[in-house]
Amino acid sequence: MSQAVLSLNAGSSSLKFALYALDGGAPSRICVGKLEGIGTAPHLIVHDSQGVLMVDRRWTDGSLGHEQLLLDLLLWIETHLGGYELVAAGHRVVHGGAAFYRPVRIDEALLQALDKLCPLAPLHQPHNLAAIRAMRAVAPDLPQVACFDTAFHHGRPDVATRLGLPRALHDRGIRRYGFHGLSYEYIGRRLREIDPALAGGRVIVAHLGNGASLCAMADGRSVDTSMGFTALDGLMMGTRCGTIDPGVLLHLQMQEGMSAREVEQMLYNRSGLLGVSGVSSDMRALHLSNDPHAAEAIDLFVWRAVREMGALIAVLGGVDGLVFTAGIGENDPLVRAAICDRFGWVGAVVDASANAANAGSIAAAGSRMAIRVIATDEERMIALHTLETLGDPSGAALPSR
Ligand code: ADP
Repeated sequence: MSQAVLSLNAGSSSLKFALYALDGGAPSRICVGKLEGIGTAPHLIVHDSQGVLMVDRRWTDGSLGHEQLLLDLLLWIETHLGGYELVAAGHRVVHGGAAFYRPVRIDEALLQALDKLCPLAPLHQPHNLAAIRAMRAVAPDLPQVACFDTAFHHGRPDVATRLGLPRALHDRGIRRYGFHGLSYEYIGRRLREIDPALAGGRVIVAHLGNGASLCAMADGRSVDTSMGFTALDGLMMGTRCGTIDPGVLLHLQMQEGMSAREVEQMLYNRSGLLGVSGVSSDMRALHLSNDPHAAEAIDLFVWRAVREMGALIAVLGGVDGLVFTAGIGENDPLVRAAICDRFGWVGAVVDASANAANAGSIAAAGSRMAIRVIATDEERMIALHTLETLGDPSGAALPSR
């Protein structure tokens, strides 16, 4: 019987997953799916590796939680993917704190340590851990591995990890960690396959999705990144504010009487593209809107990305290439062009038709730097780390998409 490994990426009401076959060589994707509406109206969609729809199922009972839905998913895997035995599950875990900077096999002690990091990533960490616990409940003997979004940034120069605060706070873990590490690691590995010369150079990777950040890489390693202590820092995002004068937070609490909880809620859920536009957190909806505030929100998104990118180019001492990834990065020619137009001073010139087609390389013939679009694949990175951690040699190679 062939073996398979499951990658899980759990959010507040959704669960993305991918299943990989281990047929001796590198893992190959069997299917990819998304379970949405957990807690309200669960809806499962699964596509096979060719993009053909395999499942489109809705549950009538909206109260079903993670556990029951995971159980249904495992049953589906067992009955519909006959011939595959699930041998491991890997999870995306947003925050590994200072202690966890490589993938780790999950046990109760690890879960308790990761619980303590929930306040550092309230939008993600509790949901990541809930999915792990649900999986442990329905499949107690299945080996599980936690893969951290912070891990790729471990090993940056110490100066990039510090905040300008009393040093005792740094020693207590109040430092810049950085996130989206699984995405950056995948892009770094993929770049080495498709453009090894660029992978060995100075590259800015722009992960622009609902969550958005930048990573400055030199020879495939993270040198610095726009997110810091939490995933609020850096770029403006779908609903998150990005870098903000800390005086604003003091003012809101001390002069305007907002509670810390209210400020937290506002910074994570009601700011960013949504807060500025008053229309939507979704870039597609903003492009379609005639509301001038929607255009203002897009302008600010671009402005902040340009500022952060300029800072990271300075950190790298120049730049050889720019890579766009994630929902906006992979699909939005307008935002890509607006950002690149500001980098003529380092030689960036976009080829308009390649950009409009979301081509892999969108640099014009005369561009002095590479500009690429690469689809990220965090689930694949999770599968590879899971196999490596559990000692399966087939996890050593990076499979092509
Ligand atoms: P998440 O951080 O939730 O994984 P994604 O990487 O899926 O987010 O990115 C979601 C963002 O990508 C949304 O703002 C969405 O509007 C945007 N997006 C997706 N497709 C397009 C498109 N064709 N044009 C512009 N924006 C897009």
